[in-house]
Amino acid sequence: MSSNSGIQIPSRLPLLCTHDGVLLPGSTMRISVDTARNMQLVKSRLLKGTSLKSTIIGIIPNTRDPEHDSDELPSLHSIGTAGLAVQVVGSNWPKPHYTLLITGLCRFRVTQLLRERPFPVAEVEQLDKLEQYTEGDTADGELGELSQRFYQAAVQLVGMLDMSVPVVAKLRRLLDSLPKETLPDVLASMIRTSNKEKLQVLDAVDLEERFKKALPLLTRQIEGLKLLQKTRKLRPDDDKRVLAIRKGGVFPGRQFSLDEEAEDEDGDDTALLEKKVKAAAMPEAALRVCLKELRRLKKMPQSMPEYALTRNYLEMMVELPWSKSTTDCLDIRAARVLLDNDHYAMEKLKRRVLEYLAVRQLKSTLKGPILCFVGPPGVGKTSVGRSIARTLGREFHRIALGGVCDQSDIRGHRRTYVGSMPGRIINGLKTVGVNNPVFLLDEVDKLGKSLQGDPAAALLEVLDPEQNHSFTDHYLNVPFDLSQVLFIATANTTATIPPALLDRMEVLQVPGYIQEEKVEIAHRHLIPHQLEQHGLTPQQLQIPQDTTHEIISKYAHTHTHTYTLCVLNRFRQKTSLLTHVEDRRTRLKCPDRYTREAGVRSLERKIGAICRAVAVKVAEGHKVSRAESPTEQHADQNTETKVEDSGIAAPPEMPIVIDHIALKDILGPPLFEIEVSERLTLPGVAIGLAWTPMGGEIMFVEASRMDGEGQLTLTGQLGDVMKESAHLAISWLRSNAKTYLLSNGSADPLEGTDIHLHFPAGAVTKDGPSAGVTIVTCLASLLSGRLVRSDVAMTGEITLRGLVLPVGGIKDKVLAAHRANLKRVIIPKRNEKDLEEIPTHVRADLDFVFASTLDEVLNAAFDGGFPSAVGHPQVVSKL
Ligand code: ADP
Repeated sequence: MSSNSGIQIPSRLPLLCTHDGVLLPGSTMRISVDTARNMQLVKSRLLKGTSLKSTIIGIIPNTRDPEHDSDELPSLHSIGTAGLAVQVVGSNWPKPHYTLLITGLCRFRVTQLLRERPFPVAEVEQLDKLEQYTEGDTADGELGELSQRFYQAAVQLVGMLDMSVPVVAKLRRLLDSLPKETLPDVLASMIRTSNKEKLQVLDAVDLEERFKKALPLLTRQIEGLKLLQKTRKLRPDDDKRVLAIRKGGVFPGRQFSLDEEAEDEDGDDTALLEKKVKAAAMPEAALRVCLKELRRLKKMPQSMPEYALTRNYLEMMVELPWSKSTTDCLDIRAARVLLDNDHYAMEKLKRRVLEYLAVRQLKSTLKGPILCFVGPPGVGKTSVGRSIARTLGREFHRIALGGVCDQSDIRGHRRTYVGSMPGRIINGLKTVGVNNPVFLLDEVDKLGKSLQGDPAAALLEVLDPEQNHSFTDHYLNVPFDLSQVLFIATANTTATIPPALLDRMEVLQVPGYIQEEKVEIAHRHLIPHQLEQHGLTPQQLQIPQDTTHEIISKYAHTHTHTYTLCVLNRFRQKTSLLTHVEDRRTRLKCPDRYTREAGVRSLERKIGAICRAVAVKVAEGHKVSRAESPTEQHADQNTETKVEDSGIAAPPEMPIVIDHIALKDILGPPLFEIEVSERLTLPGVAIGLAWTPMGGEIMFVEASRMDGEGQLTLTGQLGDVMKESAHLAISWLRSNAKTYLLSNGSADPLEGTDIHLHFPAGAVTKDGPSAGVTIVTCLASLLSGRLVRSDVAMTGEITLRGLVLPVGGIKDKVLAAHRANLKRVIIPKRNEKDLEEIPTHVRADLDFVFASTLDEVLNAAFDGGFPSAVGHPQVVSKL
């Protein structure tokens, strides 16, 4: 430092305020600059200045984080270090900032602040008189002794370091060449000291005091090093760890991290991170990776983009619940009560869930199958999953898989990608903070596939009990044990679940509810829940059972498809047919797009809407006198509690009872008033039963005929199987035309006629063989000119010989027919056994016809049967 001896700093200095790190004279430090004032200083002083003087600035340490007080200059520490800006590096990532390399020259005291904007400038008094430092040992008395002791300690310290490292060798030489007075500053900035300690050294203007402050720090470092060397002797292979040198400086003023164990009260964040890593109780492999990354992190300058990435990674690692878990509190009796309390009906599902839990209780390490609840939306699949977590006393986390088409969504991105992050499984674990939560994989049937890989394949590993103890997320790149996680999946249909995935799961069907069950669910669960959600009490709002019935049958529908009008070939239409078509069109405009839902979600929404409307009235405390009530006929029953046309109006102290009129006011006109029977007023329409992921549905099949050349037109987005069914139906009818007197005089009923067959809800693709019987019935009706019974629905596959084959989804289909108030259901004889699953009282409401031939179907579908020549060709004699 002798070269500095003549330095005289300017009497006015621009001030750079830092809030972390303390620059001491004789050392070099990197300072990241991103606040407005500091940026201004760099721009207008360092980057524009041309003289050496302009590169000298004052560094004021310990300033309150200036990020939050851009307007007001925070109070400044009175002593700072004048420094020489050796290097300025600008970067725009992650935000605009400069990194300065500053070499400390000497202390100064701020005597007067001259201006604050655009950056502070102050009148300063130089405190270290560098020229006074003389070579050799001139100081005498206590100071001389102190400096001698300090020097020897410094020599001892350097002697303990590895001399083969060039920086250490250079330091050893410097120790002899530097004036002893500069040693406290130089060494205090090299050894591991906290900012607070450095600040004390900086504030010690008196040389003697400075030695006194710095000496204990040096001794502490030596002791720490000794201790470390002792433990190292036991593990001689990792010498290198003793010394970690931060790269990137020209002057020896860099920090030596001599003691890895050392604590830093100031919260030096790598040290904090290190502590966290050690406390995270991670398995050996993960710990090794973390320590390696930590070492890399320490050597990296903070401004390097990779610094942030590595830090994020380490933070993720320490936050993961490597060995944190909750203890299961499994009591089957309590679980049964809880499941029953939370859910009405669903007996089969609840039974299976209890079995599953019971086995877990007996054998806690169970590697059982993954349960997969399959059923229409809103039937309580998610909510049962939540209840299972509750019965077990575990954390619950839902992972929505709908639309996931990239396998890195499950497995994470490799860290080489910008913006990489872990997958949903690992993120979920981080969120719940324990390693044995219940994970609900929602909508596994809606997983997509794309160029970015198949997420289902990644899920296989997650769900396979044989593999998931070492699930490796790409981001973490170390295995995480998922075997303690309880996975439950939900889906609307098994059809689109990849077979390999399905194979790992036990499918539990959750069918839709019948009307009575919905009413019970509404009164036991949905209404109390909605009341609570809206801050209402049963004393303020009452929904009678009749109203619930009405909501279910008239309002709670799902909007399944947009209706497209039957597209007819107009050019071929004859006048006679035109009226027929127009007539049909007006009729078919009924809101077919709403189907009664299988679950209760829409019902819950409607109840929510009622609660909102009532909440407004309760909040307003709005009263309307009975005299104004336009609904007089109800006045005698619910005298005080009237709900008016204008909305609801009731004194808040009374319960507001939702009746038929109030319902109409709140929810508007019913969505589904046109009865099914009204649609069957023409020949050529029949009702089929279809199965969709949303539950069962009734489906109309319509046919019309026009003059032509025997062509069949099919519309309504039919799949191949369905088209084939239509052709089969036509062929069977043509071959049996005589038997059923359909031929209209000629041998072929299709002679000179085109037939158009349409399946409404044209925007929805339909496929499957089960519409066969419906198509036959519909065409038989068209050709015979007779009406199909309006209360009958049917399903079944047909063969060319007129046999009826069994089909799937009987339960959902029957429930749909029941919901639609139909009376008779024709199903294949071989499906008779499936009726066992259907609640008794639904069965009691319906008249089932089990058909094994099309003849039986036709007889059941038409009033008074469908006349045939009893299978004998004698009828030919009609001519
Ligand atoms: P899903 O996951 O099958 O689409 P949810 O589990 O989200 O349906 O259920 C929708 C709502 O219906 C929830 O508020 C749930 O509590 C309620 N729910 C469904 N089924 C029942 C039932 N059997 N008993 C009580 N509430 C039910």
